[in-house]
Amino acid sequence: MRPSACPGLLRIVPALDGGICRVKLAGGESSASQALAIADAIDEHASGIVDITNRANLQLRGVKRGHENALIAALLDAGLGPRDAAHAHADDVRNVMASPAAGCDAHALYDTTALAADLLTLLQNDARCVALSPKFALLLDGGERLMMLDHPHDIWFSAMHPVDRAEPMLAFGLAGCPPVTSEHAAALAAVAAPDVVTLTRALLHTFLDLAAPDHSRMRDVIAAHSIERVLAHAERASGVRVLRDESIENWRREPADASCRFGSCRQKDGQRWHIGGQPPLGRMNSAMLRGLAALTQAQGATLRMTPWQSILLTNIDTANLDAALQTLDALGLVTTTHNPLSRVIACAGSTGCAKSHADTKADAARLAARLPEHTQVHLSGCPRSCAAAHRAPYTLLAVHDGRYDLYTTHDPRESTGFGRLLARGLTIDEAADLLNTSAVPPFDEPFDA
Ligand code: SF4
Repeated sequence: MRPSACPGLLRIVPALDGGICRVKLAGGESSASQALAIADAIDEHASGIVDITNRANLQLRGVKRGHENALIAALLDAGLGPRDAAHAHADDVRNVMASPAAGCDAHALYDTTALAADLLTLLQNDARCVALSPKFALLLDGGERLMMLDHPHDIWFSAMHPVDRAEPMLAFGLAGCPPVTSEHAAALAAVAAPDVVTLTRALLHTFLDLAAPDHSRMRDVIAAHSIERVLAHAERASGVRVLRDESIENWRREPADASCRFGSCRQKDGQRWHIGGQPPLGRMNSAMLRGLAALTQAQGATLRMTPWQSILLTNIDTANLDAALQTLDALGLVTTTHNPLSRVIACAGSTGCAKSHADTKADAARLAARLPEHTQVHLSGCPRSCAAAHRAPYTLLAVHDGRYDLYTTHDPRESTGFGRLLARGLTIDEAADLLNTSAVPPFDEPFDA
């Protein structure tokens, strides 16, 4: 089994504010009883707060010394974590990233829920997958309007309708994202939905066959070999026939709309709604979690975490819609893009992480009070960028003594790191001043545009 220093449910790692325990939620989904169990567990064994991660998992912070085993037992009792000791390695396997609105999004071409579960089962049960890096990541996009498209993934699939085919297929690619514009790398090919798991197994085994000891991600193997060689090897091994033609090469995915994570959207059945809200800076306390559990139960809804560090409740009846939204507001969630807290994200910062050069959470709250409309900012305590796997329009990177360098992705020629450096060594108030000047262009795209 590969070594890992990342937190898991079974591996609680120390931080400045106590232990960190990361709970993986398949499809980002938590039952009401699991949410209640987590709320009880964080009150008793941790600091009473839980962060939603950018992979739609939960990170329990401030685990008290000596409480680790009791916390783990409470979470396992709630049906969270690996199902038994023989599957303990599954704790390190990443979630398959799918839309939080999978199965109900009115714009989806394909319902990915069953296939996402099958892919996660493959990752957790295939004996060879134990050798994958915990960072190895799969994306399964059903064409939903609410979809995080710009986290690069080692293997991605995205639903499309090829010409002359009745059924949708899954376009796919390696070490990247589904293409939305002509600037993105095109899909390699497309595969029929029933063949996705077989092809994925072959791609994973091909990766493991070709990877040198220092290769942890697909991009490493592609750089050492070629993308054509990886695909040809997987095709031969799987016996799956992929579709490769000009229409696949020219295919571009419809842009997604991250703002659908706020407020209400009608579901594909035309009858019910999904509603969403963002805990300020992605952090919930036990009271908020209990309130969400009660709302989930009362509405017969499904509670899912999202990669924007927010929550989504699906299957709300029209008659209950207003009351459900009012409950989210009353619980303290941000339910509209007009609230500036919808446009800032921040990592744990110096109160929780020894690597941080600033109290990013407090600074983000201070910045939000002065944030111009449409401006979206990511505050990161160090270059590891734990709060965002994508590049935000603006990034404030803490560098020393609570000061930040400001970067922007406004210049599309800048394609690495956080973007173009705009200013160095700013206090958070100086950053707010600068963001309010006309010298800094506003952005109206969402974080994932
Ligand atoms: S981005 Fe850096 S400072 Fe922030 S939580 Fe991650 S490791 Fe810590």
